[in-house]
Amino acid sequence: MAKSTKKFRKLSFIKSAVLEKDYPNTGLKEIAIAGRSNSGKSSLINAWAQSKIAKVSQVPGKTRLLNFFQMGDGYVLVDMPGYGWAARSISEMDTWNKMIEEYLRSRDQMVGLVLLMDIARDWSKDEAMLVHFLHENNVDVAIALTKSDKLKRHEIERAVAHMQKKAKTDAVFAVSSQDGHGVMELEDFIYRSWIKET
Ligand code: GDP
Repeated sequence: MAKSTKKFRKLSFIKSAVLEKDYPNTGLKEIAIAGRSNSGKSSLINAWAQSKIAKVSQVPGKTRLLNFFQMGDGYVLVDMPGYGWAARSISEMDTWNKMIEEYLRSRDQMVGLVLLMDIARDWSKDEAMLVHFLHENNVDVAIALTKSDKLKRHEIERAVAHMQKKAKTDAVFAVSSQDGHGVMELEDFIYRSWIKET
């Protein structure tokens, strides 16, 4: 058959955790996913899960936890709490950094981080600090520009090129959980670049 019959991996919830001792023991590689509040993180996770799975992470009191999901039998996706440092305090930023730092230090199987940004927002100090922090910790980063359905094609191309410069990486993807654009392509990139034979 000429038509692709490729099946995409589907996401399922494993558990939430704060302490290292409570992280799940799957033996699989892990990818972290982070973005400021309202960046569309829950919607993207739901799109990958093909259900309202990310609601799990929105239960009050659970928003400061790490939420672990499994992508098929391939890898684990770790949902980081949303950030929005500039609007809040330095100490909140420190709290977020400490949690991420602790996770990175104890988590050898963590191979990359996907940073979500609303495509309508510009690169800010927050993103610059996070990407700098990740580079210092030798963590690979990909940027997903969310809600791409809001822009026209040429605007999307311009936004991607702009963010590639800002983030100093080619790994910038425009996605829309609403119309599905780029969602499976991003998952494919993650799998090919970070999971398969690395
Ligand atoms: P989170 O806070 O990062 O988990 O973000 P949510 O997934 O809850 O989304 C925040 C807001 O953006 C909600 O009002 C969503 O309906 C909207 N949103 C999320 N994804 C998309 C998208 O692909 N396109 C559009 N137009 N809106 C989106």
